[in-house]
Amino acid sequence: MFLALYTSCVIICVGLLIYSIVFQIINKRLQVMLCTECRQCMAVCPLLSKGCNPMEIMLGAKIDQLDQVMGQGGALCVSCKKCQKACPRGLAPFEEVEKWKNLNLE
Ligand code: SF4
Ligand code: SF4
Repeated sequence: MFLALYTSCVIICVGLLIYSIVFQIINKRLQVMLCTECRQCMAVCPLLSKGCNPMEIMLGAKIDQLDQVMGQGGALCVSCKKCQKACPRGLAPFEEVEKWKNLNLE
């Protein structure tokens, strides 16, 4: 009885985890989940002093606060891709900006 209950709980948890990952992939947000907020991208962004912060862009996308980050300077991103070259995981914060612009500036 206990083993069956335990097994059911494990199966449900694994199922929810897989569903969550697939959902994020479908929504092309896997890179947002992979961001470790290590800040290495911030060091190379030429527009950091103007408020464009690639790590904040990733964080904003992760917690659905991208509108606020864009308003604080994220929208200034020029897709120079320097952040991607500096990222140890090869992530591309500018892609989140481009997606946001496509949704909000058309
Ligand atoms: S360098 Fe990459 S992993 Fe680190 S904060 Fe920037 S996007 Fe995230
Ligand atoms: S692509 Fe955008 S966020 Fe990345 S370094 Fe260039 S201006 Fe900064």
